[in-house]
Amino acid sequence: MRPVYSVVVPCYNEEEVIRETHRRLTDVMAGMGEEYEILYVNDGSRDKTMMILRDIAAGDPRAKVVSFARNRGHQIAVSAGLDYALGDAVVIIDADLQDPPELIPQMAEYWKSGSQVVYGQRLHRAGESRFKLLTAEIYYKVINRLTDGLIPRDTGDFRLVDRTVVDIVKSMPEHSRFLRGMFAWVGFKQTPLPYDRAPRYAGQTHYPLKKMVRLALDGIVGFSVKPLKIAYYTGILWAFLGFLAALVLLVLLCCGVSGGMWWLASLMMVLTGNLLICLGLAGEYIGRTFEDARNRPLYIVAATCNID
Ligand code: UDP
Ligand code: MG
Repeated sequence: MRPVYSVVVPCYNEEEVIRETHRRLTDVMAGMGEEYEILYVNDGSRDKTMMILRDIAAGDPRAKVVSFARNRGHQIAVSAGLDYALGDAVVIIDADLQDPPELIPQMAEYWKSGSQVVYGQRLHRAGESRFKLLTAEIYYKVINRLTDGLIPRDTGDFRLVDRTVVDIVKSMPEHSRFLRGMFAWVGFKQTPLPYDRAPRYAGQTHYPLKKMVRLALDGIVGFSVKPLKIAYYTGILWAFLGFLAALVLLVLLCCGVSGGMWWLASLMMVLTGNLLICLGLAGEYIGRTFEDARNRPLYIVAATCNID
């Protein structure tokens, strides 16, 4: 029977939490009294995650598993979950229990009263480093501005999404996937559900700085072309400063003062730095265009459980 709810859970090296996650999710979903499936996407874990998932699936036909041939990252794991989910509503939730499953019934209520997307909005984030809190705060401000308010603040991927919106996001072919942005971009009625984010149940974060920067760039580059205009603005500024510098040097020369070359050299260096930054920025856009043009599959499935 086609489930009403699909719960998508991306898992990367989650051997310490996954059984507890399944227990909590099952408690909540069974309590809702409608047909459901829990879809675990094993994102190329190197620990015992897949073994445990196989075991869970063997004991529970509602637990389904899609396993990747290698690690492809959180956003792609969730995208695969959306591809396989059969439910009328799809819930996206992290495996580490930072997003409380107990909020799902509340999300479902908003959904039933007409919202196509119900997204969790973090009020407090326990157990996160100061660095993460500060960078997240700055990032959300910047991206909110760059996208003219499209992407709501303090919003992660924890959400319930109606089938209509799931199908539209599935048809969006971009390889650099910033899902919270893609859902926002689609529109329809979107409702925030404020919640306190819990600390990780066990294990460690799989979002080191490098992955965080990549996700942050995917968000900005995927949803705004404003950064490309930096070249214009700083170019105009530098041209003006260069003109001033030339005048100053000319005056100095006329007065017989030498040594202005140092001044010029430092100006040149800043200008070169500026040029390289603009070039690198343009490269971010070109690289993503190239990835999309090559059009390789987003992920390769190596194994599944309880999926026909
Ligand atoms: N995750 C994944 N692939 C990755 C990294 C993370 O599927 O390459 C999953 C991970 O198992 C978890 C979710 O994405 O369910 C969020 O990751 P994590 O909790 O490590 O990130 P944080 O909450 O610290 O930002
Ligand atoms: Mg987490």
